[in-house]
Amino acid sequence: MDIKPMNKWIPNLKRPLVIAGPCSAETKEQMLATAKAVSQIEDVRIFRAGIWKPRTRPNSFEGVGEEGLKWLSTVKQETGLMVTTEVANARHVELALKYGVDILWIGARTTVNPFSVQEIADALKGTNIPVMVKNPINADLALWMGALERLSLAGIDKLVAIHRGFSSAQKSEYRNAPLWRIPMELKRLLPELPIICDPSHITGDRNRIALVCQKAMDVDMDGVMVETHPTPDQAWSDAAQQVTPTMLSNIISNLNLKTEFSPDCTFEQKLGDLRTQIDSIDSEIIEALKMRFNIVERIGQLKIENKVTALQVRRMGQLMQKVSDQATNVGLRAPFAQEIYNVIHEESVKVQAEQMRSFLKTEDGAKNDK
Ligand code: PEP
Ligand code: MN
Repeated sequence: MDIKPMNKWIPNLKRPLVIAGPCSAETKEQMLATAKAVSQIEDVRIFRAGIWKPRTRPNSFEGVGEEGLKWLSTVKQETGLMVTTEVANARHVELALKYGVDILWIGARTTVNPFSVQEIADALKGTNIPVMVKNPINADLALWMGALERLSLAGIDKLVAIHRGFSSAQKSEYRNAPLWRIPMELKRLLPELPIICDPSHITGDRNRIALVCQKAMDVDMDGVMVETHPTPDQAWSDAAQQVTPTMLSNIISNLNLKTEFSPDCTFEQKLGDLRTQIDSIDSEIIEALKMRFNIVERIGQLKIENKVTALQVRRMGQLMQKVSDQATNVGLRAPFAQEIYNVIHEESVKVQAEQMRSFLKTEDGAKNDK
């Protein structure tokens, strides 16, 4: 894929590139107040605002539409920031180009749909306007790459990926689980593609944005996109995850930036970079284990209700067979996988035996009370 580095189309670019602005354009005053405030933050170079909003349920605020594009162009004139908005179809592209939007982005709900991405790519042929592609809502790297490839084939070489986390049926501490290994794998496959992190949609919580911004810097991402609003609690969409311009300024100035990973960096830098990657995978392993143990407890409860023993030998045999087969398939040694699962399974049985003991205790207590 032919990708032009961002410093070729954003003058005097520094790391981190910060994209700030409200989730949605609401009023001209809100746009200008936000833009003027964030333009005072040195690293903020791009102003974002959603003009057409893909909402989960109908009858929510679906964006101000074309009117908002005029406000974006005023922001551009008055602050000198580049401006960006989300496009989801050919009509959006046509209007955004008409009003001089500098950069387009494709939202997570659009990246999942190859028909929509192709429609956008076709509408963009011959323009070579920069396009940022958010990851699809589901954890599918090929779909994310497919969208980038469609744009590349349409002649767009100013491409950026935005990591905004992945939706999951599992309960998680994040609004959209970051699954860092996916953007890391994208970076391995397309090392020249810039990646920007969107901590607002990952956390869904303004108090945790700083943490995810730091993490993004630690894994060598190029910048962040942070939803910013003068009065976040009154925002018409995504209120809980928007920060004020002052909060944004503090978040950015407190970032601890590591030296960029480059072919001539020292052994220590390379080692540090790889260890950061290991750390993020380890924390995903721990989170996955926690999810596993939540289910173990639900099974424990079911066994109590149905008077079944904690250790069921046949199930243990099947489990071991499955994990050693899977380990072999991905190139891990089967005995290693078995050893890990012996420990995990032993702990699961202990957890369920403990549940059983406390159930019997309370049952005894209840009997004695009678
Ligand atoms: C947004 O950036 O406001 C947005 C709708 O994001 P996503 O496509 O990541 O949900
Ligand atoms: Mn939003």
